[in-house]
Amino acid sequence: MADRALRQPAPDPAPAVVAAAPEFGTYRLEQLGDSQCRFPCSSHGTAHRFCGRPAVHHNPDKPAVWCLEHQAVVFTPKPVIAARKLGRG
Ligand SMILES: [Zn+2]
Repeated sequence: MADRALRQPAPDPAPAVVAAAPEFGTYRLEQLGDSQCRFPCSSHGTAHRFCGRPAVHHNPDKPAVWCLEHQAVVFTPKPVIAARKLGRG
């Protein structure tokens, strides 16, 4: 009986715990990498959450900071700026 127990296979090792990446829009600042969008998606008091999607370059001389979606929010297109200057925006 005891002999049989010794031949049983060892239990599977516990699966490695890998921290899942946060969902987009729920990143904390310290979780953002160099090429992830830093657009603030929500704030509750001092708890700010950022986009975290892959950032795209809008200027090759500057670091990528915003994803495509938020780049459109952060930067006003030149035609809109021109229209505002003319009082039509
Ligand atoms: Zn973004």
